[in-house]
Amino acid sequence: MPTLSEYMEEISDIWDSRWMTNMGYHYKKLTEELEEYLKTENLTLLVNGHAALELSIQALGLKGEVITTPFTFASTTHAIVRNGLEPVFCDINADDYTIDVTKIEKLITDKTTAILPVHVYGNICDIEAISDVAKKYGLKVIYDAAHSFGESYKGKGIAEYGDVSIFSFHATKVFNTIEGGAAAYKDANIGAELRKLMNFGIKDEERIDGVGCNAKMNEFSAAMGVCNLRHVSVEIDKRKKVVERYLERLSGIKGLKLPNYSRIENPNYGYFPVVIDERYFGKNRNKVFDDLKNKNIYTRKYFYPLTNTFECFRGKYNSKSTPVAEQISQRVICLPMYADLNEADIDRVANALLEGR
Ligand SMILES: *Cc1c(COP(=O)(O)O)cnc(C)c1O
Repeated sequence: MPTLSEYMEEISDIWDSRWMTNMGYHYKKLTEELEEYLKTENLTLLVNGHAALELSIQALGLKGEVITTPFTFASTTHAIVRNGLEPVFCDINADDYTIDVTKIEKLITDKTTAILPVHVYGNICDIEAISDVAKKYGLKVIYDAAHSFGESYKGKGIAEYGDVSIFSFHATKVFNTIEGGAAAYKDANIGAELRKLMNFGIKDEERIDGVGCNAKMNEFSAAMGVCNLRHVSVEIDKRKKVVERYLERLSGIKGLKLPNYSRIENPNYGYFPVVIDERYFGKNRNKVFDDLKNKNIYTRKYFYPLTNTFECFRGKYNSKSTPVAEQISQRVICLPMYADLNEADIDRVANALLEGR
């Protein structure tokens, strides 16, 4: 969060203009500033990342089947299903947990219309391979880039890839607008469609030509984003220090697979996922989770359960078809990760993790 006084200063004009929502001054300001930060020319802000995803699918007019992974937040799969489409689950690779590009082609049928991969933990998917398959079969690509705010790939902003890339600005993410999200796209028509869909399908004062919903970002959220964007680079630098200390404390320990940020161009250090192999480490993931919780250290089993095992999908999908995702989800734990995490606390986390093996 910015300081209270910085935020108050930013929102004070709203008391003069009385313009609280519907694409006002702060909405436009944040749009421009984010386009610059994310190095993209086409960005639309929405009420949250999920709405950005759900409405992007609708804007692209997808039908039938969408190839995706189950190793993600509920939002990714739900956005597909809530559009009346069928998610087809592709496995992930054991290396960086993004979609296993060698397994996509086998899953394509005559009903497939798109691929929806996730840059999970900020690890960038094999974009070249994905775009090759997409071209070969005439498929759309939507990246769930919720974790890769500000990252680049081959010198270009990550927002520049796919037909659409969506971002989340939820309070828990590296950059936040309290709640918020954005879609970046190449084709300006998609932007026009999104702006319509996020405002009830209203085209102009007298015409409504889409079955839209209400997914606009309000001025108070946008103002929060304007403030937070001033500090995000410093925040990311501080996260880098946290990562360095974690790596110092946990490198070389048998049975712990640590995140590898070196392959990401300007990583945002959003998450610190550790994959635990009980055979070498001596404790399993659930024991680690409980040990830390007993010491008031709250970790997350991201991403467990897999989305293809959710109760709401019971009997529909089989996680045996994504064995790598299944194994990683049983073994992974995300350690506390935020800019102000101090060295003493990092050491407390590391000690609790390593104890009692
Ligand atoms: C957070 C998140 C979303 C949803 O974003 P919200 O802003 O919370 O709606 C979607 N996908 C992934 C991978 C996320 O982590």
